[in-house]
Amino acid sequence: MRFIEGTRAFTEDELHAHNMTRHHVTEFYREQIIKSGYYEQLKYIVEPSLKELDSPGTLDTSGEHDNTVVPGLQHKYTQTGLLLVTDRCASYCRFCFRKRMVGKNSDEIAPDFDRLGEYIGSHPEINNVLLSGGDPFVLSTARLDKILDHLLSIPHLQSIRFGTKIVAFQPKRLQDPALRDVFRRIHKAGKTGVIVTHFDHVGEISVDAQRSIGLLRTQGVQFLNQSVLLANVNDDPEILAATFAKCHQVGVHPYYLFQGRPVKGASHFQVSLRRGLEIARGINQRLSGIQKTFKYIMSHYTGKIEILDLGADGRVYMRYHQNKIPEKIGKIFSRPYVEGACWLDDLPEG
Ligand code: SF4
Repeated sequence: MRFIEGTRAFTEDELHAHNMTRHHVTEFYREQIIKSGYYEQLKYIVEPSLKELDSPGTLDTSGEHDNTVVPGLQHKYTQTGLLLVTDRCASYCRFCFRKRMVGKNSDEIAPDFDRLGEYIGSHPEINNVLLSGGDPFVLSTARLDKILDHLLSIPHLQSIRFGTKIVAFQPKRLQDPALRDVFRRIHKAGKTGVIVTHFDHVGEISVDAQRSIGLLRTQGVQFLNQSVLLANVNDDPEILAATFAKCHQVGVHPYYLFQGRPVKGASHFQVSLRRGLEIARGINQRLSGIQKTFKYIMSHYTGKIEILDLGADGRVYMRYHQNKIPEKIGKIFSRPYVEGACWLDDLPEG
């Protein structure tokens, strides 16, 4: 197998034991990262590294199992239902926090959309669903249409969101005319169609990606972007400011900048909280108010935590952006910073 560091021989069993993510990259993305002039940074997104063999961590950092209420449906935050609709992606990111399932035949994928629709239908507090996986747009448009049959008749659902990196990996997928009909259908049902793109780097926003976004925006689709802060890829305020400025320019709202998670086989991508805060500040200094619409977020087992500052008192200040317990949302709290800490669990209480 080819790694960034060189070629090594592994048996299938060894790769399996290390939970090694499949190596697959679209031809489009392979060419785009070279053409972009940023190959030396972007290669880390999709090319395997030997570091994956001994990066410590766990395979479910956000408590996805614990929040699964029906197979394939997570209900962690009051208003949101998270659906795992596929375990496949157009290409596989080496840092994926769902390493445990992507590119594999996972039993975490929703097997029964009737059951799932019944759960959402009987929970009026759920006003939006997020179709995730894997990448929902690797499914055929006909399959997506079938999934929507179970969702569009639920009156309290206000928006249908798709989390996808296909706009970077294979943007022409979004130019399928039948997909435009899907979004027209969502609109006709009185819901908002939302696509959450996953651009980690300005070099991923290709001309084709811009064209696809433009086409679907004319159908009333709202676009947001989430990025992951990744060592050696985008741990640079210049790059992330350029990424968010480009997103803004093409009609995509910068939304979350995620702190890398301590995922087994991917924790070498983590950047310290000190450095992350410097980068977040550097991005904010380079952008206008309407471009800096992102929050620097740690998607922790306990909830989504906005990382605010490292104070002169040596404490990291944070606030819950989302929490299972609504009373905790918005409350600022702090923990003493430990040099090199990358995650809430690395910070002692007190
Ligand atoms: S596209 Fe998303 S789900 Fe797929 S490997 Fe990348 S980060 Fe994971």
